[in-house]
Order: sequence, then C-alpha cells, then structure tokens
Amino acid sequence: MSAVIEVENPSTGKTIESVPDLGPVEVEALVATARAAQPAWAALGYAGRGRYLRRMQKWFLDNADQIAETIHAENGKSLDEANIEVMYGAVASAFWAKHASAYLADEKITSRSPLVLGRKLVVRYQPVGVVGVIGPWNNPLLNNFGDVIPALAAGNTAVLKPSEITPLTSVLMAEMAREIGLPDGVFSVATGTGAAGAALVEHVDAVMFTGSTRTGKKVAGRCGERLIPCSLELGGKDPVIVLADADLERAANVTLFSAMHNSGQTCTSSERVYVEAPVYDEFVALMTERFESLRVGESTGFGTSESGSLTFPPQLDTVTRHVEDAVAGGAKALTGGGVRQGEGRFFEPTLLVDVDQDMACMREETFGPTLPIMKVADAAEAVRLANDSAYGLQAAVYTKDLAKGQRIARELQAGTVTVNDALANYFALELPMGGWKDSGLGARHGRDGIRKFTKRQSILVTRFGMKNELHGMPFKATNIRTLTRLIKTLYGHPRNTKD
Ligand code: NAD
Repeated sequence: MSAVIEVENPSTGKTIESVPDLGPVEVEALVATARAAQPAWAALGYAGRGRYLRRMQKWFLDNADQIAETIHAENGKSLDEANIEVMYGAVASAFWAKHASAYLADEKITSRSPLVLGRKLVVRYQPVGVVGVIGPWNNPLLNNFGDVIPALAAGNTAVLKPSEITPLTSVLMAEMAREIGLPDGVFSVATGTGAAGAALVEHVDAVMFTGSTRTGKKVAGRCGERLIPCSLELGGKDPVIVLADADLERAANVTLFSAMHNSGQTCTSSERVYVEAPVYDEFVALMTERFESLRVGESTGFGTSESGSLTFPPQLDTVTRHVEDAVAGGAKALTGGGVRQGEGRFFEPTLLVDVDQDMACMREETFGPTLPIMKVADAAEAVRLANDSAYGLQAAVYTKDLAKGQRIARELQAGTVTVNDALANYFALELPMGGWKDSGLGARHGRDGIRKFTKRQSILVTRFGMKNELHGMPFKATNIRTLTRLIKTLYGHPRNTKD
C-alpha cells in the first residue's frame, strides 16, 4: 500500500481521515494529464470556461454546509469563519467567470515613435499551460482552490498541492470538479508533503505559492532556475496605527476581528498595534474588555465560538514562546497568557502591553490569538516602527482625518493599507493584493491576479508596401541635436519636467 497522511481534527486531537502521500512519479503523472487536457480547455474560450465556473459557483452555494464543516474539521476555525471561505469560493467563481475576458482581452497599443508610424501594435495574453498551486493550512479553500479559479479562467489547467495538514477541503474540490462535469485533467489535487510540492515545481509551467517566507524563497529559487513565473504570497507582521483622533470603538472592534480571525492564523491578521499616547489607556481598556469576552473552544454550530484551535501543532510552541519571551522581557499579559488545558490545541486570547519593538512578538510572525500593544509619542514614531519590519503585507491606520489617514497609508511599506478598516480589501476582487519585502512577489486579484497565469505576446503588423523607416530614417540617430529635437517633440521639453 502506498504511503498515507493522517489528517487530524485540531479541536479534538483525533485522526479524522487519511489521504495518499503522493511521490514525485505520481505528481509528474498528474501534470502530464493536466498538460494533455489543456489545449481543449483553452479552446473552449472564455464563454465556455465561464459556464463551468458558474456551475462551480452554484455548487459552492448548494454545498455550503458540507464545505464549511470540512474546513472546520481539519483546520479548527469556527464554522462562521469557515463559511467566509465558502462565500469567497462562490464569489471568486462568479467574479473570474465575468471578468477574465476583459482582463485578458487583446490590447491595442498606440506609439508616438516615428519609426512605427502606421503600424498596428497589439498585446495579447495566452495561458501558460499547466499551473501548479501550492497552498498553506490556514485557509484550506481561500488560499488553495481560490487561486486555481483564475488560473482555470485564463485557459490553463491546474494541479493543486494543498498543505499536508489540511488536504481534505481540496479533496472535496476534486469531488466538486467531477460533479460539475469539469473535463478530466483540467483540475486535479496532488496530496502529499513538501516533497510533492517540490515535485510539482519541477513539471508545471507557472507556480502560485502561498505559505511561509522560508519555503517561498526555496520555491522561487527553483522557479528561477527553471525560468518559469512564480507568484508568492508569504508571511506578514501587520501593524495597526491608532491615532489620537480615531473612532476608538471602531478601531477596537475591527482590530479585534482582524487580530483574532482564525485565532490569528491569517497572513493579514493584525499582529502589533501602535497607539498615540493620549488615547493609549482608553484603547487598551476597550481591547481588554473585548479579549475577555471571547469564547474559546470548538464551534459546535454557527455563533458558538469566537476563538478556535491552533491548526498546526508547532504553532502552540511558537505562540507560547512569543508570550513567554515578552513577559520575561517586562511585558504584561492583560488577558490569557497560556495554553488552554484540556482537549485540542487552544491558546487563550492574550493581550500584551509594555512590549518593546525588539521582542519576538513584535518582530516575528506569531500567527496566534495574541496582540501586543505599544504606546507611541506620535504618528511619525508609529510609522517608523511599523516600517521597521522584514515583512510588508498589510497595515491599518485609524483616524477620523481621512486625508491624514491616506497620507500615512502612502508612508507605510505594505502591499495593502486600510484606513479605518481591515481585511475587507480581500473581498474586493478588483483590488490587487500582494506583499512587499519578505511578504511576497506578485499579486492575487485584479488584472495582475490573472495576467500572472499568462504569457504575453506583442504583435507588430506592417501593411504591405509601407516604407521601412529603420532603413530610410529621415535623420541620423547619432546626431544628438536632431535626436534631442525629436525627443522634445514626442515627449516634451525637460524644462517642463518638475522634479
Ligand atoms: P509552509 O511554507 O510550511 O507550507 C506551504 C506549502 O508548501 C505546503 O503545502 C507545503 O507542503 C509546501 N512545501 C513545503 N516545502 C516545499 C518545497 N520545498 N517545495 C514546494 N512546496 C513545499 O507554510 P504553512 O505553514 O503551510 O502556511 C503558513 C504560512 O503561510 C504563514 O507564514 C502565512 O503568513 C502564510 N500565508 C500567506 C498568505 C498570503 O496571502 N500572503 C495567505 C495564507 C498564508
């Protein structure tokens, strides 16, 4: 019998199912099948593929409970949070069905260069072939199958390698593909460990990777050697800035949601807060009240728990280490502070104060139900500390002065900044989302979120009988004065350029 991976329910610690642990030969075979299926899938065109995506959307809605329960069982997040992933799947299927053709339509280019006068210039986008999607355990649907959807909409076939910790939702997606009649080989799932992910990178034509920065760098290195495109959505240490003029109730409510969503196991969760001194005490009091009111435990139905279990066993150690390191360095845990005793992997929601910037809880990705809060003198100090990080995924600013909020947003080193909000951007599928620095390369969503799964081709067409300006140039390119005059005519005088 071939090797299997046992999947555990982190809320109970019990094994719930097992999946095959595919080896490199089996992964290669899946890619070969996907490659054989790709031309016919691409030939269906946007309308033909869109019909399948609409069936997919309907399937998500018809089977919402079963999908949410599968996510909940293998990941430990509450049913309410699992349901957000299901809704994302339905919305994304409809979104890419509707928008893929416009994002990938031929583009007519106009050029002012006299050397191409009269020529037709066109840019077109073609599918790359087979896309390999490699995903993490924290969002078994959203950051796994969610990225398969635009890859398919663009005319590629896809092989998904889900995390070995949470493969069951992806296996369910393969079942969905069969039920909606997706042609064989258009979408398949390669369950397995990191080795299966590495094997996938060897054979596909493009990689969409979501996971840790450490693995992301390895994947990018191999894609570089193979000269295939790769898009990386990696870790984060998202800062929140609360200014003295903020609506503190809103800042506290939204920060609670963004820090505690999926028990903090979200790449874009708020991981550290900088509060202007005049409102520090009030904000800390509001957060303490909210942290104390959270119900920790397995969700037994909708609306029964706000803080689920930690999915990945080593996460308990990381979160514990960050809290213990902070307390040993002089920080105070105003709530929680440790592992909840009993069944499952639960950590008590922990609010930390009196922290300093060099503590592990302020520098490393914690990925747990904890939140350190630090007092700052002013907005300038908050921005400086927020940017003092290896990561640059997302950030949030709270202020009633919207102009100031937007000014600060532009000073922050993050791929996305929200003003008086958090996480909502993820559901604007028109808006690109991607990290700076160690948080990634490329983006998901928007135009770039589908063009990354294509090869771009530029076409220049010269009508029969046209003069070849490159040979019969009306001036000598080496004549600087003539060239300067030409550039001035085409692109303006340098005098008009403001520094
Ligand atoms: P991970 O890097 O350990 O694993 C991610 C995936 O890569 C898994 O499927 C794993 O099996 C596979 N893998 C491991 N080694 C591989 C290799 N050598 N080649 C190819 N694939 C390999 O990450 P994780 O612990 O599963 O996920 C948590 C991380 O993901 C966190 O850092 C989180 O911030 C990040 N994340 C980022 C985003 C985002 O959009 N930026 C979203 C969700 C999660």
